[in-house]
Amino acid sequence: MPSAQRPPRRRIFAKTLLAILISGSALTLFWFGLVPQRLSPLAPLSLDQANPWFVDFRLAALRRDASLCVATLNSPHITAEPVGDKPFSNGCGWRTAVRMSKAGGATLPVGTITCEVAAALALWIEHDVQRLAREMLGSPVTRIEHMGGYACRNIIGSKALMAFRSQHATANAIDISGFRLADGRSVKLASNWGDSTAEGRFLKAAHGAACHYFRVALGPNYNKAHHDHFHLDRGPFVRCK
Ligand SMILES: [Zn+2]
Repeated sequence: MPSAQRPPRRRIFAKTLLAILISGSALTLFWFGLVPQRLSPLAPLSLDQANPWFVDFRLAALRRDASLCVATLNSPHITAEPVGDKPFSNGCGWRTAVRMSKAGGATLPVGTITCEVAAALALWIEHDVQRLAREMLGSPVTRIEHMGGYACRNIIGSKALMAFRSQHATANAIDISGFRLADGRSVKLASNWGDSTAEGRFLKAAHGAACHYFRVALGPNYNKAHHDHFHLDRGPFVRCK
């Protein structure tokens, strides 16, 4: 049947399907950081901006663009320097990674972490963790304790997923275990999570805020393997628990 004589319903369906396919493809390209910055309608991410629009896509744009990474990770928001790529082998390695020592005014030394995770950490710490610490605990955070970034290993703690490589295997994840405050106090996941104290409420709020910047933000409520840390990653899946 010639298209001019097609019933309108069929034409509407075809147009809707086409629109879904085009927007789905565009979202996929942004999701995987495949849109080069020079072709992107989104401005490059700026770490001094709280709650940036389309923060997920703008973080993903850092994944394959070393010069954009260098331009984005700047002082005083973060202290970081690029490290050479480690070609992927057996599911392990990294690209566009940095070595960092400070983010959002707190010491946070990490040997190798993707630029994307480093930028997400800087935004989270500067605009959320520090504000929450001042409001809820009356003191800023001076040091963030972690249990590691890069590790060539599979997912642990879940039988269904243990056959798959962890995001740690590509330096795209970090495990945060606690926060040291300027007044000398330490707030730890292992001892303060679930408390009805200000420290316990602070940890809950910090976890919730992490979900804005990290696609996966798992804490003690997720499973036993996470009883003492937040697992934060910028992989392809989304989970906030
Ligand atoms: Zn982890």
